[in-house]
Amino acid sequence: MAGQQAVEHKYVYDFSEGNKDQKDLLGGKGANLAEMTNLGLPVPPGFTITTEACKAYLSTGEEPAGLGDQISARLATLESAMGKRLGDPDDPLLVSVRSGAKFSMPGMMETVLNVGLNDRSVVGLSAQAGGNDRFAWDSYRRLIQMFGKTVCEVPGEEFEHALDDAKRVKGVTNDLDLDADDLRGLVDAYKSIFSKHTGREFPQEPREQLDLAIHAVFESWNADRAVLYRRQERIPADLGTAVNVVAMVFGNLGPDSGTGVAFTRDPASGAQGIYGDYLANAQGEDVVAGIRNTVPLQELEQLDKKSYDELLSIMARLEEHYKDLCDIEFTIERGKLWMLQTRVGKRTAAAAFVIAGQLVDEGLIDLDEALHRVNGAQLAQLMFPRFKLDHEFQPVAKGIGASPGAAVGKVVFTSARAVELAAEGESVILVRRETNPDDLNGMIAAQGILTSRGGKTSHAAVVARGMGKTCVSGADDLDIDIPGRKFVVGGQTVSEGDVVSIDGTTGKVFLGEVPVMPSEVVQYFEGSLDPAHIDNALVRAVHRIMTHADGKRRLRVRTNADTGADAARARRFGAEGIGLCRTEHMFLGDRKELVERLILARDGKERDDALAALLPLQRADFVEIFREMDGLPVTVRLIDPPLHEFLPPLEQLAVNVAVAQERGEDVAKEEALLSAVRRMHEQNPMLGLRGVRLGLVIPGLFAMQVRAIAEAAVECAKQGVRSCPEIMVPLVGAVQELETVRAEAEKIIAEVTREQPVDVLIGTMIEVPRAALTAGQIAEAAQFFSFGTNDLTQMGWGFSRDDVEGAFFWRYLELGIFGISPFESIDREGVGRLVRIATEEGRAARPGLKIGVCGEHGGDPESVHFFHEVGLDYVSCSPFRVPVARLEAGRAVVETGGSDSR
Ligand code: ADP
Ligand code: MG
Ligand code: MG
Repeated sequence: MAGQQAVEHKYVYDFSEGNKDQKDLLGGKGANLAEMTNLGLPVPPGFTITTEACKAYLSTGEEPAGLGDQISARLATLESAMGKRLGDPDDPLLVSVRSGAKFSMPGMMETVLNVGLNDRSVVGLSAQAGGNDRFAWDSYRRLIQMFGKTVCEVPGEEFEHALDDAKRVKGVTNDLDLDADDLRGLVDAYKSIFSKHTGREFPQEPREQLDLAIHAVFESWNADRAVLYRRQERIPADLGTAVNVVAMVFGNLGPDSGTGVAFTRDPASGAQGIYGDYLANAQGEDVVAGIRNTVPLQELEQLDKKSYDELLSIMARLEEHYKDLCDIEFTIERGKLWMLQTRVGKRTAAAAFVIAGQLVDEGLIDLDEALHRVNGAQLAQLMFPRFKLDHEFQPVAKGIGASPGAAVGKVVFTSARAVELAAEGESVILVRRETNPDDLNGMIAAQGILTSRGGKTSHAAVVARGMGKTCVSGADDLDIDIPGRKFVVGGQTVSEGDVVSIDGTTGKVFLGEVPVMPSEVVQYFEGSLDPAHIDNALVRAVHRIMTHADGKRRLRVRTNADTGADAARARRFGAEGIGLCRTEHMFLGDRKELVERLILARDGKERDDALAALLPLQRADFVEIFREMDGLPVTVRLIDPPLHEFLPPLEQLAVNVAVAQERGEDVAKEEALLSAVRRMHEQNPMLGLRGVRLGLVIPGLFAMQVRAIAEAAVECAKQGVRSCPEIMVPLVGAVQELETVRAEAEKIIAEVTREQPVDVLIGTMIEVPRAALTAGQIAEAAQFFSFGTNDLTQMGWGFSRDDVEGAFFWRYLELGIFGISPFESIDREGVGRLVRIATEEGRAARPGLKIGVCGEHGGDPESVHFFHEVGLDYVSCSPFRVPVARLEAGRAVVETGGSDSR
C-alpha cells in the first residue's frame, strides 16, 4: 500500500517539463536547464531527478520505490530522442550525472561525465567520431577517474600521478600531446588503481554506472565540506540536491570543439561586455581546473565566428529573459554550440548596484525591482574603506570574510602581546588558530583578527562582528606556530612583527602593507561627490536607488549621536533627527571632577553646588546639538549608567590609598572616594542602580538635566533656531516611575519656558520587559516610546551582552539555538513579541503614540524590516548605519507589496 503510493509519486522530470521557478524541487541547475530548453535554446536533452528523491534516499539509504522505473522510462525517451542507447557497443549514448541544489554550492558536490563508456563502447565511440581513437580513450580515462574519485572514493591524486607519469615517459607536458595509444595505456593504469582501492573491477554495465553515480551525487549532499559550507552560508541542511542526467556533448573532439564559461556582464564591476574563458579541445572540468591556460572569450570570435555570434545572441536573450546578470557554461562540439548551464550570477556589492541601475536604464526592470535587487549588507560593505589592489599585491591565502573592513598591522600571536604593542601605539593583527574567551583583550586591542580555523559562526567571527572589527577566519593555508611566534604560508614564513593586510569582506590575506582607499560611496554621502557630475557608475547607481528608497519608505530614520560633529555627519548621511542622544559622555573628561563632587556630597548644599556647576556645561552641549539638527527632533536620554562608572575602579583606588597612607600623605579625599565606590559596588550593575532609579534616588540630578535641555531650547529659540527636544527617561518598568519624573520635569519646563515658549515632549524608553508588558499603562504618561532593544534583549534573554557574547555564543550558533546573535538581529519571536505587544497596547491607550527604536538593531537590515512590519514610526542607529536603514526601510515597503502598512 505504501509502495503503491510511492510509485505514483513523480521523482523524474524531463527538461521540457520544468521551469526556472521550481528550484526547490529540481534544484537551480535543473530548473534553469528546463527553462532554457523551453526557451528553445540548444540544451542537450536530459532529465532531472528531484530533491525529494534525494531526501528519501538519504533518510533510508535506498532509492524510494518507483524511482528506478521512472529513470528507466525517462532514459528510454532520451535514447529514442538521441537515436542511441546508453553504452551501446556500436554507437553509445553517454550521459553526465550532475548535482544541483536549490542554492548553488560551488565545487561542493559531484558531477560524473561520460557515463556509459566501457571496454566495448569506447570502440564504438571512436568509430562514430570518425575513427577518433584519441578522443574515445580520453573520454574513457576521464570517466574512470571521475567515477573512481566521486563514486568510489579512490584518492584523486593517484590518477593525477598516473597521468603525470604517462607524460613524463613520453617527454611531454601537455595532455594534448598524449596520443590514443598513450591514453589506452592510461586507461589500464587507471583501472588497476580503481581495483586496487575498491577491490572490484571498474563496472562495465552502463546502467550500473548510472545508478551508482546517481547515488553518489545524492550522498555528496552530506559530504563534510558541503555540510560546512552550508553552515557558513546559512543554507538549510535538509534541502537535498537534485540530480541531472544530461546527454553528453563533446568539447574534446578536436580543435573545432571546446568548452567555456561566461558572464553576461562583469560580475566584479557590473560593466557591460563579454566576460569569460574558453578552452579549445577540452571537456568541462578542464576550464576551472586550470590544467591548461584558457583564452579570453573574445578570442572565440576568431576561432569560430558562427558559434561566437550565436553565443552572444543567446546571452542577450538570457539577460532579457532573466532580467539580470547570468552566468553560463557551454560546450562547442565540432562547430555546434550547446548550453550546459545558466543561472542568475553572483556578483560583488558594487556590481549589484551598478547592474540594477543599468537594467532600469535598459527598461528591463523598474526602480522598485532595482531596490529589491540590492540590500543593506551590500551597501554597508561599500561604505568600508577598501584595499587599493594592483598587481603588486597577490593574496597569499584566502579564508572566510567573517567581519568586513580592511585592516593592516603587525602580526602578533598572543592576546598579551597584542595588548602590549597596541599600548605602544602599534596597529596589530591578532593571529590565532582559533580564538576563545581568553583572547578577548587581544581582540579588543587588535586592528583585525586572522584565524586558520572556523567559519562565520566561530568565536572569532561572532565576537569580531559584535565589536565591529575586521576578521578573516578559517584561512586554512596558514600553518600557525604559536610558541614559535610565526606562521608559514605558501612557503613563506611570517614572524611576529611582520606586517600583513587582511580583507574582512573577501577573506583575502596579503603580506605587507596594502594601501587603503576611502569609500567613494561614503564620499558621496558626505557630499564631496556630486552624482550628477561624476563619471562613476557606482555612485550614480547608489544615488538613484537611495533616492527611490527615500521616496518609498514609511519609516523615518534617525541617528544615535551625542556630539554636534556626529549629528552633522549623520544629517549628511540622511538622518531625520536624533533618536538617542546619550548624556553620559557629558559627565566625562574634565567634568569627572564635578561628578565626583556630586557623588561625594555630604549634604544638600554640596550636591546643589556640584549640579549648578554642571548645568551650564550640559546646556552648552545641547545648544550645539540643537543647532546642528535645526528643526529636527532630538531625543535626549537622561543619564543611564550606574554612577560608579564615573569613579576610578575599586582595586586601583584601594592601592592608591594604601600607598599614600604608607607615605604618610593626607588621604581624606581618596578615602571618601574609596568608601563611596565600595558603597556603590554592585554584583550585577546591569540590573542595579541605574536609569530612572538614579533619577529618583539622587535629588536634583534629572532636574538639572531637564533644566539644561529646556534652557538650551529657549536659548536657541531666541537666536531663531527651532529645536524639538524630546526628553527620554531610561529603564522605566512601571508607570509610577515615569509619572514621578514627569511631574517634576514639567514643573521645570513650565518655569524655564514661561517667556519663550518651546515644545518639549516627555517620553520613555521601553527596554525592561515589564515596561513592554504594561505599555498600556505607561502610555498614559508617555508622549512617545523608544525601544531600547539592547537592554530588552539582555533582560528578555536574561544574559548580559558583555559577558556572554565571547563566552558561549559560538556554541549556541553551532547548535543552532540562534541562527544569528540576537544582538545583531532582533529575535522576532521573543524580544520582537515584546516590541509588538508594547506597540499595540501603547497605541491602544494613546492613539497615534510616536514610537521608535534606538538600539543597535535600528541599523540592522533584517530588524528594520521587522520594525516596518510592526508599524513603528522611526528607527535610530549610528551615523554610519543611517544609509543602510534608509535603504532597507524602502525595501521593506517594496517587499510587502508596496502598500503603506499604516
Ligand atoms: P558544477 O556544478 O560543478 O559546475 P556541472 O554539473 O555544471 O558541475 O559540470 C561541470 C562541467 O561539466 C560543466 O560545466 C560542463 O562543462 C561539463 N558537463 C556537464 N554535463 C555535460 C554534458 N552533458 N556534456 C558535456 N559537458 C558536460
Ligand atoms: Mg556548472
Ligand atoms: Mg538601555
